[in-house]
Amino acid sequence: MQQPILVLPEGAFREQGRSAQRNNISAAKQVAEMVKTTLGPRGMDKMLVDSLGDITITNDGATIVEEMKVEHPAAKMMVEVAKTQDDEVGDGTTTAVVLAGELLKKAETLLDQNIHPTVISRGYRMAANKAYEILDNIGKDVSINDRETLIRIAETAMTGKSAEVAKEGLAELAVDAVTQVAETENGKINIDQDNIKVEKKVGGATSDTELITGVIIDKERVHSGMPKNVKNAKIALIDKALEIEKTETDAKIQITDPMQLQAFIDQEETMIKKMVDKIVESGATVVFCQKGIDDLAQHYLSKKGIFVARRVKKSDMEKLAKATDARLVTNLEDLSAKDLGTADEVIEQKISGDAMTFVRGCKDPKAVSVLVRGGTEHVVDEVERAITDALGGVASAIEIGKVVAGGGTPEIEVAKQLRDYATQVGGREQLAINAFADAIEVIPRTLAESAGMDAIDILVELRSEHEKGNTDMGIDVLNAKIADMWAKGVIEPLKIKTQAIKSASEAAGMILRIDDIIASSKSSAPAMPPGGMGGMGGMEGMY
Ligand code: ADP
Ligand code: MG
Repeated sequence: MQQPILVLPEGAFREQGRSAQRNNISAAKQVAEMVKTTLGPRGMDKMLVDSLGDITITNDGATIVEEMKVEHPAAKMMVEVAKTQDDEVGDGTTTAVVLAGELLKKAETLLDQNIHPTVISRGYRMAANKAYEILDNIGKDVSINDRETLIRIAETAMTGKSAEVAKEGLAELAVDAVTQVAETENGKINIDQDNIKVEKKVGGATSDTELITGVIIDKERVHSGMPKNVKNAKIALIDKALEIEKTETDAKIQITDPMQLQAFIDQEETMIKKMVDKIVESGATVVFCQKGIDDLAQHYLSKKGIFVARRVKKSDMEKLAKATDARLVTNLEDLSAKDLGTADEVIEQKISGDAMTFVRGCKDPKAVSVLVRGGTEHVVDEVERAITDALGGVASAIEIGKVVAGGGTPEIEVAKQLRDYATQVGGREQLAINAFADAIEVIPRTLAESAGMDAIDILVELRSEHEKGNTDMGIDVLNAKIADMWAKGVIEPLKIKTQAIKSASEAAGMILRIDDIIASSKSSAPAMPPGGMGGMGGMEGMY
């Protein structure tokens, strides 16, 4: 008997070949299956309960896969797909995950026919590249001035979410917010979504959600003697403590008589007074300070009728600068009238019991805020997610400048043209490209099912419409029939589709090429319990 040679440390898990592939595919598919029922306007919601018992109710793919806390490595790659989609576009996360799952499902059939994984993954890559081309061709141009189309995009992004009750208002709000912060650089429109601050407060109705052409700061004024409301505000942004600086070293001051003490205190007072005078001289009526403010300074500032908030977050200071056109001043000596920003009004308001400062009515602000309201915490959270989707959709439509109809329309067209392409390519890749075409139809198929329609019949009908050149025909989920989705105003940014295909095909390709899983004992213990695989399909044939 030969002694086995141990290469791996004791307790390491190893799984190889088909069984590794099967388990990976199975885990990834399960993630896709879980989010699939949430797709589209008739999609259902998921209730997720975390280890502390906190509940999230959502329809948002990225949130669901994130909160599921999956442990299987291949399942985690699906979470990455959703995250990438979320970062790159901000919407279309369910689509991306469902597509990745379907690509793997179709690949399984090809594996059964002994097609090599690298062939499949190459075929998928070819199909994806062709799909971008097809989508680019069917995409229609949109510009930042095309308000009506942009509103349709925002509405489509919010359909089926809790925010739907106030869809019209919220869609306009999203478009206003995005167009307001858009900046043109070298002829290219840039939208940094960080410049749209979404602040949530439970209370009121969803329709009370409001766009502030300025910034909301989660702070109140430092002194009750200060005005609550300043009109035509002249705003100073100070990145320095309005305090006497403590000495670096531990200094000891010996005071021998009371006069000396008084002189010392007086001197401190004079220094504080000088700071306040500097602010008053600049003409500022509102001060946002990133650091602390001495009590005495607060007192003087309040006597001068200046509104002051302290310890304002750095990110908020930056937004204030962008919104009010103020310059962030580090050295108080430098502060002058030209550094000040302006706003129609700075006002402290109580929202559901919390005092917040609103900087409203900024002139052409490059940073804005959205105050999301709603009856309960769960509603507010879901409305926030819907608005984020809408903001993302509108922003990417403007940046890329192209849009497509929704309701499965582009997927049907891509599938159709991919099948033509597959015959041109021929060989074994042809099979993979055809599988890709079948896979992408999972989107219209799922939408049809969600509307209670017979998916097979509908797909046949839609394919024939597209053959006839009716390329905007898709599934009108809300009325459970096929319709011209462009005419229906169901419009999505092109990038939702291209990015979903990109992330999904890359992840699928990567998962397919894995034929060996080696997990060290430490990480494998929680990640792959024998037989359980984190509850994501069995793990047969373990070594
Ligand atoms: P995702 O996370 O992928 O954005 P959604 O639940 O938002 O998932 O569903 C998006 C899908 O629903 C897209 O394919 C979109 O075209 C479709 N859709 C949205 N609104 C409608 C509508 N009114 N009619 C038909 N399809 C719609
Ligand atoms: Mg969506």
